[in-house]
Amino acid sequence: MSWDLQSDIDEWRSRGLWRSLRELESAQGPVVRVGGREMVNFSSNDYLGLAGSEFLKQAMHEGVDLHGAGAGASRLVCGTQAAHVKLEEALANFKGAEAALAFASGYAAAVGTLPALLGSGDTVILDKLVHASLVDAARLSGATIRVFPHNHLGRLERLLQGARGRVLVVTESVFSMDGDLCPLEEIVGLKDRHGAWLLLDEAHAVGVIGPQGRGLAAKTGLESKVDLQMGTLSKAFGLNGGYVAARCEVISWLVNKARSLVYSTAPAPALAHAALASLQRVAGTEGDQLRRQLWQNLELMAGRRPESAILPWIIGDEAAAVERSRALAEAGFLVPAIRYPTVARGAARLRITCSAAHQEAQVRSLRKALM
Ligand SMILES: *Cc1c(COP(=O)(O)O)cnc(C)c1O
Repeated sequence: MSWDLQSDIDEWRSRGLWRSLRELESAQGPVVRVGGREMVNFSSNDYLGLAGSEFLKQAMHEGVDLHGAGAGASRLVCGTQAAHVKLEEALANFKGAEAALAFASGYAAAVGTLPALLGSGDTVILDKLVHASLVDAARLSGATIRVFPHNHLGRLERLLQGARGRVLVVTESVFSMDGDLCPLEEIVGLKDRHGAWLLLDEAHAVGVIGPQGRGLAAKTGLESKVDLQMGTLSKAFGLNGGYVAARCEVISWLVNKARSLVYSTAPAPALAHAALASLQRVAGTEGDQLRRQLWQNLELMAGRRPESAILPWIIGDEAAAVERSRALAEAGFLVPAIRYPTVARGAARLRITCSAAHQEAQVRSLRKALM
């Protein structure tokens, strides 16, 4: 068979699904420059406004001064530096777990962790709306994949009853395209009753929800019940990287078996240094102040108290969502349309995210533009 990429491209375009990269000409922040224009940015996951902050820039400089630029090797060879070890101790403490392991990204954490723990003969049970990294990780593991409708406890229970081998339930605390939460207590009850493990991805909860921004497991006091707490350093922490927190034996096993860790160069130690500084800020009184600002902005934007910092504005039709986003861009707002395959066909939406760094007037003006 010959290659005919062009007809695939044409088809993708004709369905309104074509995307391209947008270049920012400024640092990440509540106002960014795009195509020579200043735009108010309601599309980043930089919930606390740390990514472009003087504080984190300083921490990165410091990290480079202390540890150099590159890690030079994978973690198991000679790429582990003090910055990685300190970050992992702090992450474990922050997540109320015995130990933690830092990865190059949240994606790498997912695709490293699931295949290390599960294989053929085992079962992974996913919420229908979990992030693509977890779907890919489940596929890569070779375990039997079962999917339950979003947050549907009855269907989850039935899948648990029929599952074979080691059984892992995978869900998220804040769902990345809908901004709603999982019923964590009920899910923990179910997985415990069936002797299964639970992986909870806290990517969008950390920094935003729970005491000190420690996430939904901390908010509900269930940290010790969640077998694998996964997260990322690339959202509220304002950097790059991912992590898993768990019992010591699980983390040591991952050090041996997670291929995205073993066969990939360690994250730059300067990043790990800055991530520790970011974590301390997020968990401290400055973090509490930033969270207060963030939640004020969210309430103003949503007109009520939302569940998370992600506010979906459902439109449905892919082309209509793109057109709405384009019109908002003309008015000076960066609010990208999210469409298939990131969300289901016909469920296209604007995905509005607020940051602690937005001014009240910026939030009010987007609200007005949407009404
Ligand atoms: C962003 C995200 C990831 C991936 O994290 P990266 O650090 O960006 O690779 C994983 N899971 C969820 C739910 C996410 O939103």
